[in-house]
Amino acid sequence: MKNNIPVFGSKQAQENVILNKLNQEPLEPEMAYRLIKDQLIDEGNARQNMATFCQTYMEPEATKLMAETLEKNAIDKSEYPSTAAIEEACVNIIADLWNAPSMENKIGTSTVGSSEACMLGGMAMKFRWQEEAVKRGVDITKNKPNLVISSGYQVCWEKFCVYWDIELRTVPMDEDQLSIDVDKVMDYVDDYTIGIVGILGITYTGKYDDIKALDEKVEQFNQETGRELGIHVDAASGGMFAPFVFPDLEWDFRLNNVVSINTSGHKYGLVYPGIGWVIWKDRKYLPEKLIFSVSYLGGSIPTMAINFSRSASQILGQYYNFYRFGFEGYKSIHLRTQKVAMKIAEAIEKTELFDIYNDGSNIPIVCYKLKDNSSVAWNLYDLADRLQMKGWQVPAYPLPEDLENIVIQRFVCRGDFGMNMADALIQDINRSISELNKADVSMHVHEKPHVQGFTH
Ligand SMILES: *Cc1c(COP(=O)(O)O)cnc(C)c1O
Repeated sequence: MKNNIPVFGSKQAQENVILNKLNQEPLEPEMAYRLIKDQLIDEGNARQNMATFCQTYMEPEATKLMAETLEKNAIDKSEYPSTAAIEEACVNIIADLWNAPSMENKIGTSTVGSSEACMLGGMAMKFRWQEEAVKRGVDITKNKPNLVISSGYQVCWEKFCVYWDIELRTVPMDEDQLSIDVDKVMDYVDDYTIGIVGILGITYTGKYDDIKALDEKVEQFNQETGRELGIHVDAASGGMFAPFVFPDLEWDFRLNNVVSINTSGHKYGLVYPGIGWVIWKDRKYLPEKLIFSVSYLGGSIPTMAINFSRSASQILGQYYNFYRFGFEGYKSIHLRTQKVAMKIAEAIEKTELFDIYNDGSNIPIVCYKLKDNSSVAWNLYDLADRLQMKGWQVPAYPLPEDLENIVIQRFVCRGDFGMNMADALIQDINRSISELNKADVSMHVHEKPHVQGFTH
């Protein structure tokens, strides 16, 4: 080993670090660390990334705990029984936050994220529909089953429908509401509908579907038809926010027909990616076929996640936050984040150039478009570019189906985004706008709507 060779004098430092074929010989660990770490140097500052809901900061004690538990395998309940008990504690805590009527009857699991959690929620609806439809005498081979959701769905639902050969039946959003149209939604339901998905925090706009009104429609439908149509709430972003900030908002298991809910622990659960959760109000909503057992202390424990082996460190990170912050801790962080988002929205409003779709008051995201009659010679893609020069990552993208001519921009404020950072961002927005107003070259103005940057 040539330990005395300085990293930047080494042979490796003269070569590409990203390989497509293994090197024949090993290299020193410090060298590997330095060069790989340096390879990531152009990736921007995650905390300035206003495009993502995913957590970009955790306390050093949390990170330490997670780094020290990376070897624990979440599925190996018999080797790691305390970890298994902590996972169950997380499920209990979340079920309590979501007002589960019975702690004994509810059932839930951690997942890698909301995508896996939605997949499970969707599968349970499909299997339950199948049993129910056969009982009702519906010829289940005649048509494809369908899932009803607003056109503001996240891509995981498209995946679910492709994987399971289900028709994704989307209820168009209108520009005023930008959430599910409760008056129209039941028009999309038929004998082949496996369930309705309500979204607590539409990815594009941050709007909450009116789950309570949806529940009333479904209740009426079930009473009239004798069916057991259920609602799954995709609360990827809102599920760990609303319970702390809007405890009186009824969107969860308080509603009769809400049978299952998912959330991303790595969004407002404040854990690094990837961790998600799904909970069914009652075991009866999760068909037995989807429950498998793994051994646990000589006995067995039910498991329903899709993935098998993965590190338990994210689960322990989630528990660290629960244990450390408590209800008041989460609430104070979320209220501050909300305040920050509303301040940014106010600053955007003050420019008089934009129409605000979401002002940060429901979940702390701000989203807006350029006013239709705006006379500026630049567009939101130009503004995104300007902000990127100052280190801010901000996406600009068109709205979904039927509204695809509207290009919007969105700032996601997270727990680690303090008022000081917001002030810096606001200053940069105002500067960017005056620079754009002065610039005589504009490159994007005649461009068609497209997605710029990461938007999920
Ligand atoms: C982010 C998001 C998802 C996907 O969540 P992951 O945890 O990233 O898998 C699903 N639905 C909605 C509404 C989301 O915002």
